[in-house]
Amino acid sequence: MATRLRLLDDAAWVSVNDDRAAGVSEVWPVADSFCSCAPAWLAVEAFADVGADGRRVEARAHGHCVSCGAAGTTPWLPVGKVTDEGFAAVSGVRRSRRRSPPSDRGGQR
Ligand SMILES: [Zn+2]
Repeated sequence: MATRLRLLDDAAWVSVNDDRAAGVSEVWPVADSFCSCAPAWLAVEAFADVGADGRRVEARAHGHCVSCGAAGTTPWLPVGKVTDEGFAAVSGVRRSRRRSPPSDRGGQR
């Protein structure tokens, strides 16, 4: 089954199979490399891109660290996973991967 990925409302929401899976105003703990905080607490302001690696949904988020104020765009971070029951969001610390997911928005699988 193909996973349909879209960005809605000027990149304020990540939509997975027509359900809103993640949105601005969420705060994500990010494990590495966003700023010098460990973890960084990223207040999400927009999404730069969304992609899927099989059933794993990932995104690059633009935002700022609520602790130190550093702003920028993250590398690819996990958003959640598509299961047989629907979409399951990641909870806890998000750790970036070093490479881009093989399919970008549009979902070729
Ligand atoms: Zn910080």
